[in-house]
Amino acid sequence: MKSLRLDKYLADMGIGTRSEIKEKIKKGLVTVNGETAGRPEVRVTPGEDQVTVNGVVVSYATFSYYMLNKPAGCVSATEDLRHETVLDLIDEPGKKDLFPVGRLDIDTEGLLLITNDGELAHRLLAPKKHVAKTYFARIRGCVDETDAAKMNEGLDIGEKRPTLPAELVILKAGDISEIMLTITEGKFHQVKRMFETVGKEVLYLKRLSMGTLTLDETLESGQYRPLTEKEIEDLK
Ligand code: URA
Repeated sequence: MKSLRLDKYLADMGIGTRSEIKEKIKKGLVTVNGETAGRPEVRVTPGEDQVTVNGVVVSYATFSYYMLNKPAGCVSATEDLRHETVLDLIDEPGKKDLFPVGRLDIDTEGLLLITNDGELAHRLLAPKKHVAKTYFARIRGCVDETDAAKMNEGLDIGEKRPTLPAELVILKAGDISEIMLTITEGKFHQVKRMFETVGKEVLYLKRLSMGTLTLDETLESGQYRPLTEKEIEDLK
């Protein structure tokens, strides 16, 4: 992480206003790597330099971002009395602040973003932002171009308004079909309800992408990894 001014570092961590912080520095109450900090402009690097105030270490809490390849059988929640949660799969310090961005059904697999960045989560989930989500699905029944046209026009799935235009790509048509569907909303059970509306059943569902973020196919089911700097930048 980049360096920043000592007074900003402490202000970001809620130690006080800039002027209160300057006062503490002036009084010699702040140290950087064991030395009394002389000036508020001193640059410090979060994660590298150790900063203390009144002898107490002040670490710079940053946001964390992980992509999880969610397995079937666990719920997209932070706590659940009956089922394993997606957070049970994450083994990281500061885990108590993490939460999944949105929900996948218990039997849905694939990409789930886990973070403690509430603002980013809010932006990704805001209905007005129409963030695209692409799913792979296995469907009972022969999916055809008529279904694709209907999904592109919008379907009445029992909500106030029809679904927004969705892109259906048929990978394999047969008794069991395979498709990719991109939707820009996040209604409850949306993909399953869209197929139900055209008389077909989703047998298997996996999310492949959300906005600019694509599931890393090297992640086994249940595995996760931190996002790269580029993935984080692209999401913002
Ligand atoms: N649509 C569904 O029906 N289920 C999911 O988990 C996600 C999208």
